[in-house]
Amino acid sequence: MPIFDAESTHGADFSKPFFRLRHGRTGGPLLGVFQTRTTWRPRFAAWMLALVCGFSLHVFATDARVNLADGFDFPVGKPNADGYYKSRGLRLRAPQHFGEDWNGRSGGNSDLGSPVYAVADGIVTLANNVRTGWGNVVLTRHAYRDPATGQIKYIDTLNGHLDRIMVKSGQAIKRGQQIGTIGTNFGMYPAHLHFEMRHDITIGMQRSNVPADMNHWADPTQFINKHRRLNREWRPVAVATGTYQDYNGIRGL
Ligand SMILES: [Zn+2]
Repeated sequence: MPIFDAESTHGADFSKPFFRLRHGRTGGPLLGVFQTRTTWRPRFAAWMLALVCGFSLHVFATDARVNLADGFDFPVGKPNADGYYKSRGLRLRAPQHFGEDWNGRSGGNSDLGSPVYAVADGIVTLANNVRTGWGNVVLTRHAYRDPATGQIKYIDTLNGHLDRIMVKSGQAIKRGQQIGTIGTNFGMYPAHLHFEMRHDITIGMQRSNVPADMNHWADPTQFINKHRRLNREWRPVAVATGTYQDYNGIRGL
């Protein structure tokens, strides 16, 4: 007896092999000879098409996929910045400060090594020691549905001067997940988190490339308070990658 029934089974039964042993005219199996059935051609063509398409997507895809954010929390004192205060806020006019400085209420370096959290579901776009005045930096990207317009929008965060980085570029992150710890940029500052939010997802580490206005920058506290809870949609959406320019040889996702 051959291993498999020689009779063709029609229809899309994918549990069956594509190639079957076939009985010879004498009735015995032609061992080692694989004979394709008449039904294999469309199935084989479909597999080849899937293979080619999959390969093309792999080669040409420039997007990553993230869950739509179900809300935004504060990056310290999870989730409401409990035990922390803002020592500096956003200021787009000189002297400029493009984000917020968060400090522990106990003062000094009491917050050194304390957790920094992802403010929303998203993806890590850069996680490196970029040196200069920044030190260890984690940038993250988030997709959310703007409650005002119903449109899907994107926003980046920057978390600077970290003592430790606990994520990698390209890693998916969940709201409230620890991404690093508060640091001093290797002793340059008293421990604090420098935290920025950007509507413009091309800024990366090159802040001088875009106008200092609210189309490109977000006031973090204002933005977070306005988007604390969003509908959970359970569907991933595409986000652009490769949007940053090099900074000290580091480009990110
Ligand atoms: Zn700062």
